[in-house]
Amino acid sequence: MAGWKSHGLALLNWFYPKKCLLCQKSLSYLERQHLCHFCVTEIERLEQCRDAFVYSYGPFKESLRELIHFFKYKGLDYLSKELALFLYKIWQENPSLQTCEILLPVPLHSATLRERGYNQSQLLALQLQSYIRAERKENNPQILEETLLRVKNSPSQTQGTKEQRKLNLEGTFLLKEKDRIRGKEVLLIDDVITTGSTLSSCRELLLLAGAKKVLGLTLARD
Ligand SMILES: [Zn+2]
Repeated sequence: MAGWKSHGLALLNWFYPKKCLLCQKSLSYLERQHLCHFCVTEIERLEQCRDAFVYSYGPFKESLRELIHFFKYKGLDYLSKELALFLYKIWQENPSLQTCEILLPVPLHSATLRERGYNQSQLLALQLQSYIRAERKENNPQILEETLLRVKNSPSQTQGTKEQRKLNLEGTFLLKEKDRIRGKEVLLIDDVITTGSTLSSCRELLLLAGAKKVLGLTLARD
């Protein structure tokens, strides 16, 4: 049996050669779908994964930055499966994330969503949820869609003082169905945290609506 199995794999590799997105090395069918084992283990991790209320996997540079770029701007939506594994690792290591009942992806404005075709944070949240489901029989976090909306297309929040950024974001997000948030522990999901102003303004809205606790989880910290 084992012999046939390895013959089968060899044949698959022969007919459908796949390459690692980062180093172009040929992938075996036992590796991840688009990244080789070496490149995955080479991705640098943050020494302190928590900063204020937000947990992140690695610094926003090199391979991780490249992968996020592919994921967001090159249409490689299928990378959510591999990238969400990094979020899942952080989730597994930090019990305070495991009590969150709601996963809330940071929304895109409808114009950006139309242009990109998908919300990268939502894909990450869906994948993370499926990894958690595979591990737990009950108490799985729920994803709320159409609850938090981005109603204003504000410019990128990388410039200006903290006060200016906060002012720029005023009225950007709208929270509907507040009763679904009240008393709940919420985990905001995003790809990258830069100044933190986006996540902070979402958090503020959720706390105002009566959320019990609001944390954030991102792939990278810039
Ligand atoms: Zn590689």
